[in-house]
Amino acid sequence: MNHWHTLSGVELRNAFLKGEVKAVDIATHFLKRIETHDPHIKAFLNVLEPRALLKAEHLDRKRAKNEPLGRLAGIPIAIKDNMHISDELTTCASQFLQHYKAPFSSTVVRLIEEEDALILGKTNLDEFAMGSGTENSAFFPTRNPWNLKCVPGGSSGGSAAAIAARLSLIATGSDTGGSIRQPAGFCGIVGFKPTYGRVSRYGLVAFGSSLDQIGPMASTVADAALTMEVIGRHCPHDATSLDLPPETYSLKKDLHKIKIGIPFQFLEGLKPEIRKNYDDAIETMKSLGAEPVAIDLDILKYSIAVYYILATAEASTNLARFDGIRYGTRAKDAKTLDQVYELSRKAGFGKEVKKRIMLGTYVLSAGYQDAYYKKAQKIRTLILNAFDTAFNHCDAIIMPVAPSAAFEAGSIHDPVEMYLQDIFTIPANLAGLPAATVPSGFHPNKRPLGIQIIGPQMCDVSVLQYAYAFEQSTHYGKIPPTFLGGSK
Ligand code: GLN
Repeated sequence: MNHWHTLSGVELRNAFLKGEVKAVDIATHFLKRIETHDPHIKAFLNVLEPRALLKAEHLDRKRAKNEPLGRLAGIPIAIKDNMHISDELTTCASQFLQHYKAPFSSTVVRLIEEEDALILGKTNLDEFAMGSGTENSAFFPTRNPWNLKCVPGGSSGGSAAAIAARLSLIATGSDTGGSIRQPAGFCGIVGFKPTYGRVSRYGLVAFGSSLDQIGPMASTVADAALTMEVIGRHCPHDATSLDLPPETYSLKKDLHKIKIGIPFQFLEGLKPEIRKNYDDAIETMKSLGAEPVAIDLDILKYSIAVYYILATAEASTNLARFDGIRYGTRAKDAKTLDQVYELSRKAGFGKEVKKRIMLGTYVLSAGYQDAYYKKAQKIRTLILNAFDTAFNHCDAIIMPVAPSAAFEAGSIHDPVEMYLQDIFTIPANLAGLPAATVPSGFHPNKRPLGIQIIGPQMCDVSVLQYAYAFEQSTHYGKIPPTFLGGSK
C-alpha cells in the first residue's frame, strides 16, 4: 500500500488504530516522500527522521499492547520553524539562529506529542515570519507545489507547501497578519487562525505579540478541527491565553439561516477573476441556506497602514533580545560591547527584518509616538468596534483570502505592493477574530484560490462549521497538484 498520503489525517489515524498500517510504515512512507519531492519544493528546513521513527516504534509497541493511543495517533505533522521542539533547532529561517537549539518544547508541540502525532520536521518560513512569499527565508525559498515558478505564500509557506504536496498531513502555522490563511489559499489547502488567545504562544518566537496566533494547516477542515481540539487549551505559561474549557468541534453540513456579511464597499476594485470566485462562493453558501447581508466595513481600508505601524513597533521590541549575547550567533570580530550588538545584528538579520526594526523603532520614538503609534492604536479600536457592529447583523463575514492567486517568485519588487497582499487577512488579526481559509476553486491561470470565513471572537467552532459546510459541497481541497505524478 502506498496511498497513505492521499488520506486525510483522521482517515490515516483510523487506519492505524484498526491495524491496517503500522506507525513505522506511515513514518517511512512520508519520510520517503520528503526525500523524493522536497528537493523540488523545499518545504522543510530540517527533517527529524530519528525522532519520527522513534515515536513510530513507540506507537506500534503501544498498539500491540492495547494501550490507549492519543487523538493524533500516527498522523504525520510538520512544525513551522518558529516553534520550539525541545533539543531541536529553532532557526526562524534566520542566520541569527541557525545553530540555536530549543531548551524546551512549545505548548503546542507538547500537546501534539502527547496526543501521539508523528512530528516529521520543521518547515521553512519568511525570516522571523516577516513576509508573504517565503522568499525572505535566509536559507532558501520554498516553491508552490501547484506551480514551481510560484511562491507558496508566506510566512508559513513551508507548512502550506508540505501539505499541498502531501509530504505531511497536518502542519502548524503562525499568523500575525495572514501567515496561515494566505499561504493556505495559495496552496489550495485549509488554514485556520483561531481567536487571539485560544492557542498558547508559549514557545513561539514572538513577532507582533498582540497579533500572533498559532493555528492548524491541513488538507481538510475535519483535520484542522481535530488539531484545534488538541491545541486550543488554556496555558498558564502565556499571560494572554484564554482561560476557557477546551471545545468540541462537531461539524455539520448546512448553513441554514446563517447570515453571511458581505463588505461590498471594502471589496470594490477586486480583480475580475477574484471577484468571480468570490461571487461563486457566495452562491454556493446561499444554496446551503445562508442569507447574505450587506455590512459596512469601509474602515478596513486603513488596516494595512495600522498593521505596519503596530506590527513593526512590536517586532522592534521583541527582536531587541537578539543582541549576540543571549541568543544565537555572536559576531567574532567585535571588540567592544557596542560592536557585539552592532556586528551580530548586521550579520544575523536579513534585509526585511532590519527594515521592520528600523520602522518600528521610528514609530515608537519620542517625537513620533503620538503621530504614528498612538494614532494607529486608536484606529485599531475603531476597527474592532466596526466588526462588533457588523456582527450585530451577521454570523460570519466572507472575504477573499488575497487580492491575487500565487504570484511568481521574484516578481514583486515594490514593498508596498507586497504589503498589500495582506489587505484581506490583517483585519482579523487586528480584531483578534477567528478566521479560516477554505479552497474555493482555481484562477484561470490554474492556481488555487481560497475563500475566507471570519467569525466573532470566541466563535472558533462556528467558523470551522461554516468552513466544513462549504468544503463538503465543493471538495476543491480533494484535488491534488498533478505534477507530483498525481497523488491518487
Ligand atoms: N505578510 C505579513 C507580514 O509580512 C504577515 C506575516 C505573518 O502573518 N506572520 O507581516
